[in-house]
Amino acid sequence: NTPLSEADPEIAQIIEHEKYRQFAELELIASENFTSQAVMEANGSALTNKYSEGLPGARYYGGNEYIDQLESLCQKRALEAFKLDPKEWGVNVQPYSGSTANFAALTALLQPFDRLMGLDLPSGGHLTHGYQTDKKKISSSSIYFQSMPYRVDSETGIIDYDRLEENALLFRPQLLICGASAYPRDFDYPRLRKIADNHSAYLLCDMAHISGLVAAGEQESPFKFCDIVTTTTHKTLRGPRAGLIFFRKREGEDRKTSLEARVNQAVFPSCQGGPHNNTIAGIAVALKQAASPEFVQYAKQVRANTQALAKTLTGHGYRLSSGGSDNHLILWDLKPQGLTGSKIEKICEFANITLNKNSVCGDKSAVTPGGVRIGTSALTSRGFKEEDFVQVGEFLHRIVEIADEVQKASGSKLLKDFLAAAKGNEKIAQLQKDV
Ligand code: PLP
Repeated sequence: NTPLSEADPEIAQIIEHEKYRQFAELELIASENFTSQAVMEANGSALTNKYSEGLPGARYYGGNEYIDQLESLCQKRALEAFKLDPKEWGVNVQPYSGSTANFAALTALLQPFDRLMGLDLPSGGHLTHGYQTDKKKISSSSIYFQSMPYRVDSETGIIDYDRLEENALLFRPQLLICGASAYPRDFDYPRLRKIADNHSAYLLCDMAHISGLVAAGEQESPFKFCDIVTTTTHKTLRGPRAGLIFFRKREGEDRKTSLEARVNQAVFPSCQGGPHNNTIAGIAVALKQAASPEFVQYAKQVRANTQALAKTLTGHGYRLSSGGSDNHLILWDLKPQGLTGSKIEKICEFANITLNKNSVCGDKSAVTPGGVRIGTSALTSRGFKEEDFVQVGEFLHRIVEIADEVQKASGSKLLKDFLAAAKGNEKIAQLQKDV
């Protein structure tokens, strides 16, 4: 029972440094959040010691009395958090992450080489939605299945549903995937359902980014329209790092061929081994919190903060992809300023602001993203309100002015020259202090 600081001071120190970094920096990565002390306690508990392959009441190991209680409670809370009737929906809470949840869902729904359509990665989709380039199949979701991505309109930044419908006529997908990693607008679920129905295809929503907002009623619920809904648990939902798969149940269905049987089989034994019970406990705690009135208030504040930030940036004349946001993130197009997302990301990092470069609509190549993605969920968890995000917007405006100056001083468009010219820049040092 030696504490970590004595048993392994090296690791203890790295953890302390990371904790301080998280505290000291302005965290604007749209996929991150600060989970609660209670979630972290559950996540770091003795539950990590237990093997429990199988499902509650049907395990391959003994000693699972309490683990069964835990997993059943987590399932119940997951359905409650999204206001789902247990007669109509079930859930598997074992996926280790969003990516494994998605691969298990594809394994449940498709045969090898079946056809799927998801939002392309440069348009804001996730790798696991069938990502491939012209030259290479990148994700297992395009290696084991045939993928034809759909895209956003390069002018508006909004999903081109007409084009999707036309291409679906040619490709005849067996699965249509919606949901995204970098899309600031809500989805047209009725239209997506109609396109899926035209081809007797399944409709899967990966609501990873927005699941906290969905739980709080701050985004349209995909459950009314979809057969399967997957999510990560650590973004706007504010839990530990993991995934969930919700599946629709149908009255009178054959239990062996039901989505429930196929999803559960796909998670274990097809794609995973023993569940991470400590994580499941953390998810259960987060789901209880997500069902509280405080969480609804949090989700409302996340959206209000995004609006305040968007208004500040557009007030300075900047261009946002799709013109604004319905959710917790904005995509800031820096092409009009002649800057790349990589350069802005770097200057932000020097000034203790954390965000990430991102493709924005109209980019010629995904290799040099023309903008950055900014999310408000993490800083909202730290109590930031609209006026704080106006200040964040002002810091970001200063970042652009500095980046512009550094680029001119470097006399080059190359990132390495830009970084060399940024060294020792006093305005960056001043901004770091102000942040
Ligand atoms: N799905 C979406 C929409 C995501 O944005 C992400 C991660 O950012 C994932 C899935 C993958 O989640 P994980 O990193 O937990 O595998």
